[in-house]
Amino acid sequence: MTKEDETPPDWVGGQEFYNKYEPKEILGRGVSSVVRRCVDKRTGQEYAVKIIDITPSDKMTPLQIQEIQEATVKEIDILQKVSGQKNIIQLKDCFESKAFFFLVFDLMKKGELFDYLTEKVTLSEKETRKIMRALLEVVQFLHSQNIVHRDLKPENILLDDDMNIKLTDFGFSVQIEPGQMMNEVCGTPGYLAPEIIECSMDSKHAGYGPAVDLWSSGVIMYTLLAGSPPFWHRKQMLMLRMILAGKYDFSSPEWDDRSDTVKDLISRLLVVDPYRRYTASDALNHAFFQQYEVAEVRHFSPYRKFKVICLTIRATMRIYLNYRRAKPVTKEVIRSDPYAIKPLRKMIDACAFKIYGHWVKKGQTQNRAALFENTPKFILLSIAAEENEMSMRTS
Ligand code: ADP
Ligand code: MG
Repeated sequence: MTKEDETPPDWVGGQEFYNKYEPKEILGRGVSSVVRRCVDKRTGQEYAVKIIDITPSDKMTPLQIQEIQEATVKEIDILQKVSGQKNIIQLKDCFESKAFFFLVFDLMKKGELFDYLTEKVTLSEKETRKIMRALLEVVQFLHSQNIVHRDLKPENILLDDDMNIKLTDFGFSVQIEPGQMMNEVCGTPGYLAPEIIECSMDSKHAGYGPAVDLWSSGVIMYTLLAGSPPFWHRKQMLMLRMILAGKYDFSSPEWDDRSDTVKDLISRLLVVDPYRRYTASDALNHAFFQQYEVAEVRHFSPYRKFKVICLTIRATMRIYLNYRRAKPVTKEVIRSDPYAIKPLRKMIDACAFKIYGHWVKKGQTQNRAALFENTPKFILLSIAAEENEMSMRTS
């Protein structure tokens, strides 16, 4: 580690940022922030800068500006506390002016896990294991420091050059006292734990704790494997009701080939009662993570060779017999129910994501679940509604 890495980020004026860095194209946007690629003028090294706007304007009241300012100071404080954990984004520098905050991070060129999933449609259990192990280790670390993230979702998980995850966006994170409960309603609707929704409906609710991050982790894990989220309804109220009741299933065809072990772990995270829900440590001790891929040293053995030949012949016979028993795929079958044929189903889903991937972006009306509904009418209606709304905004 260099001396520069060890020193805490400076608190200097906004002009300092422009003296040191050259801002480039936009990488992402949030409610009150824009993230841009930027280049260190001296070293040529690339970074990402989150620019948070605190300019007084008609759009925001002084109270709202003050809230954003306080939230950003809190975000920076937490980012500095968690600095160094290998799967958390590294804050390199920060600057504050009267109008903006500039938070400089390591650049994650591969972007969001959200976009990677949109490109891949679904992930394998092996890839899910690697991502979830890293995510749960981050959650375990945060909770050991009494920090709750409160906004875990694939948009806030970035990928580095080696496809390792880096958790980002600590805008909703809080540092609590051990055992302290929270009541503030925050997060993203599809990932909200039931107890957070209960807090929004009942002002006398006992509150929620760090377990909300494990619920969101369960939602992420389900989404990685199925391609669509466990709780989704076009009407947000009905989606919230599904979450409150913990109503989800593994009935979509994507689950046909998934192991019972992986389903078991998801079902222990998506538990409505936070006291019965798995903690990060429980989840990391689950059988799903106890599968090692050991590089085997093989020596030649005539007996083993003979056994492999016998097994190969048996497997070939079985495949051949199954193939003969299988119903032929005729034009009629393809025409009446193409979605029932696995290779075609995968092709249809991949095509849908290729065509509408740009449209499946954050927000409730534009959820990736819509692409799995397999009802072209709904997709077209939603796109028409969105185009309508955009034209209204621009006119
Ligand atoms: P917000 O609080 O506004 O959601 P985030 O910190 O989540 O802000 O950043 C918004 C988006 O910007 C992210 O979802 C991601 O697409 C992009 N982004 C943020 N940080 C980086 C980074 N270090 N490297 C590359 N892209 C980033
Ligand atoms: Mg974000």
